[in-house]
Amino acid sequence: MKKRLIAFSLVLMLILTCFSPIAANAATLTWPVLRLNSTGANVTALQYMLNYYGYPVTVNGTFNQSTVNYVKSFQQAEGLSNDGVVGTNTWTALTDVLQRSSSYNANLTRAIQYLLNNKFGYSLTVNGVFNSATDAAVRSFQTSMGLTSDGIVGPNTWNNLIAASSAFNATQFWEDRADDGWVSPVGYTPGAITNGAKFNSSRDSGSRVHAGTDFYVSNNYRSYYLNHNNSLTALDTYAKTFKVRAMYDGVVVQISTNFYRGTKALAIEHADGTVARYGEIGILSGITVGTIVETGEEIGWIAYHNDVNTSNCDGVHMLHLEVYLGNSPEAIASGNPRFAASTALTNTTSHSYYYANVPSSLSPAHYERRADLIDSTGARNLPLN
Ligand SMILES: [Zn+2]
Repeated sequence: MKKRLIAFSLVLMLILTCFSPIAANAATLTWPVLRLNSTGANVTALQYMLNYYGYPVTVNGTFNQSTVNYVKSFQQAEGLSNDGVVGTNTWTALTDVLQRSSSYNANLTRAIQYLLNNKFGYSLTVNGVFNSATDAAVRSFQTSMGLTSDGIVGPNTWNNLIAASSAFNATQFWEDRADDGWVSPVGYTPGAITNGAKFNSSRDSGSRVHAGTDFYVSNNYRSYYLNHNNSLTALDTYAKTFKVRAMYDGVVVQISTNFYRGTKALAIEHADGTVARYGEIGILSGITVGTIVETGEEIGWIAYHNDVNTSNCDGVHMLHLEVYLGNSPEAIASGNPRFAASTALTNTTSHSYYYANVPSSLSPAHYERRADLIDSTGARNLPLN
């Protein structure tokens, strides 16, 4: 009876370990295997780590015979099978916990700095000092990976640094989308759309970064004095010069009726799971949450800033486009406040919205957004037709 109970408990533990999303303890982490002739950032990190443990291997990113020999020595010293292959047990033995102001672990810190820079797009000085910039980058990285943002590099953070694939490749993402038949959201008047703010560009004197890509209507194509003092209702009937169209097949999942300075926004979830938010627009009547749209279908128009309740009638026209991978359970914006921008676009304290790969120079005073927000600049390269 007792044995069966123990067996049952073991099975239960196994089930919990396998299926509980929060059961990410050291025993369940998956680590990449490195061996002779492996190359890359993980090898560089491994070599820094071996240096930390007193094995003076040259740090060159190549798992050469010298590295094999030092790994074997390390394994032997740790009581592990000394086969010269770095797998779960060896990684676990290599990855000590560290955090800011840990002064004795310069080469472990170098490994972290190197991984953050070369796999995840940070720009730290690889100097072995766990300084405030490193602390901020670690916290930002933890946030982007869905980990507790505490600045402590423990087993889970080490595992994400080493096991996660490299930073998201936005160029590849947009090339793939073009191949899949995505079209430009503003294809109707070539030359009328100019560069506006791009993803990650500095806003508010550097206190936050831009979450999307602006498709800015050039001066020659504006007529913003036309309805400058009209009401929001009249804005809906404003000359629809610059049509905004769906980049891809999808369904409308959110509408913000007050996005920014009297403009609106809508979010479309696509068949491939990505989500696009079209902001600073007017929305075509009949489009509501649940509306199914097809690639190239008109969804609205670029609306000019015309906030009748304040003096913010600057007449600027742009499509502010955000694109998400669709991995995050977080909503894009909460509710429809009068000025959604003031809370959903500029809030630097809410932890509902996270920003992936924030440049360390802007952290922690950054623009917190969903972790799966991606660089939408490449949408400019989508076909016009
Ligand atoms: Zn914008």
